[in-house]
Amino acid sequence: MTSEMHFQFVVIGGGIAGVTCAETLSHLNPDEKILLLTASPLIKAVTNFRKVTKTLEEFDVEERSMFDLHAQCPNVIVAHDRVMKLDSAERILHTSTQKQYSYEKLCICAGGSPKIIAEGHPHVIGIRDTETVKVFQEKLSNASRIVLVGNGGIATELAYEINGCEVIWAIKDDAITHTFIDKGASQFFAPIMSKEKHGERKGLVKRVKYRLDDDVKTETAVKATKGRKGGSVTGSALGPDWAEGIPMHGVIEESHRVHVEKCVEVKRVLSLNEIESNSLSTCCPPLWDDSNRDWPVYIELTNGHIYGCDFVVSATGVNPNVDIFTSGNKFDVDAADGGIIVNEHMQTSVSHVYAAGDVCHAGWQTSPYWLQMRLWCQARQMGAFASHCMTADVHGHLEEISQDFCFEMFAHVTRFFDFKVVLLGKFNAQGMEKDHELLVRVTEGQEYVKVVLQDGRMHGALLIGETDLEETFENLILNQMDLTPFKDNLLDPNIDIEDYFD
Ligand code: FAD
Repeated sequence: MTSEMHFQFVVIGGGIAGVTCAETLSHLNPDEKILLLTASPLIKAVTNFRKVTKTLEEFDVEERSMFDLHAQCPNVIVAHDRVMKLDSAERILHTSTQKQYSYEKLCICAGGSPKIIAEGHPHVIGIRDTETVKVFQEKLSNASRIVLVGNGGIATELAYEINGCEVIWAIKDDAITHTFIDKGASQFFAPIMSKEKHGERKGLVKRVKYRLDDDVKTETAVKATKGRKGGSVTGSALGPDWAEGIPMHGVIEESHRVHVEKCVEVKRVLSLNEIESNSLSTCCPPLWDDSNRDWPVYIELTNGHIYGCDFVVSATGVNPNVDIFTSGNKFDVDAADGGIIVNEHMQTSVSHVYAAGDVCHAGWQTSPYWLQMRLWCQARQMGAFASHCMTADVHGHLEEISQDFCFEMFAHVTRFFDFKVVLLGKFNAQGMEKDHELLVRVTEGQEYVKVVLQDGRMHGALLIGETDLEETFENLILNQMDLTPFKDNLLDPNIDIEDYFD
């Protein structure tokens, strides 16, 4: 017989969204007890938060023990326990340790699990959390060739960061890093990607403090690679600078060797036995030596090319962790991305239940310059905003809460191939009518600046390199000034644009 414990607020998930939500709830409700339930033993904490511009933000992420959060916010109780069932009619959660918790308001911040091709295959891994990075590192240290599948941020970082190992990079688009940049920008990066890397890397705001210490057992790590269908407990997702400080070295001497296969998907994962018994012929990129090499695993691509490698990294995005919550409850779930739909107050379709971060789908009428991307900064923003809404809800004035300014305009700063990359508004003209215009300025090896205009007004911008344009362009997107008279000069490098619009 299990006893039931009651909390005013319960948050599920020890990632950025869940921890931010619990911390903010703690500040807003110092007299209430808040429960944070997390399937991972380590939680993610945001530190050194700073605003770079009105909408661009930077912060560090620290991976901490659950006890640190309780020490910092004494009214937050953190339990390392996996939620197995939600009974939303009774407002009760059932956990893997046979406990039951009831709530007034619940926020689901359960994140996502990597989509893995050939799930469960011993030579295919996904990267999601600190534990899976450890598995990846160990495998890489004995590898001379990998196949990397996917075209988002993780794949891009890996393609650049991996040293001493050949990388066959299979992408379904006709240009690299498609999730973040356009074809022009990927052409800008192409020569940089294949260049030898020498000396110290410069200027990067690398801010991560992940621990791969002893309390993370390799056993957990191996289980975590099984992903969603394998029913494993995944840890929190990594953040922007996850690759920094993590040695990624294979066994060959050359620093960098990447071959990109464009417009392809993986058709089959094959064993050496299948290659030999069916007399299948394998490929090798020009000038790479494949003679007399047998590989532990082979990948057949949809263009017919078959490559052998030591292992495959599947970096093809995440599936929101919704199954436990949707089973037996009437959550509206987005058909395309599988996230739990939330409204402008982060409320799901189930009463008293909120959701934030990677697990949710922004179902409100968004601003014309904002879009959802499953990113670190949005997990923090959603977690914080959800806590304000939950607090207002218990006090009966939710309707008075207006949306946070951060949802006004999309803004993200990151680094690809050692270049600063700033994404503002509809930086790739996402969802815009065909009548938009693009203005582009490129200085080879130095900067790439693209502006998206519609009816003479700026809707988005992509800035690569030290352009110093982010603040001015952010203002131009937010104030929607008619730029028709200035269009021809907007990207003129001889004009101080900041001065111009001051
Ligand atoms: P998560 O961090 O996934 O946390 C989910 C939490 O829920 C975990 O603690 C998990 O244990 C817990 N949980 C799940 N199910 C249950 C359950 N049933 N019961 C209890 N607890 C449960 N973002 C960027 O902005 N820039 C980048 O460059 C970038 N690079 C990335 C690189 C990698 C390799 C990865 C994997 C992600 C990257 N991201 C990046 C994405 C970013 O890390 C995520 O968007 C963000 O961390 C999501 O936070 P979250 O709190 O929503 O979910």
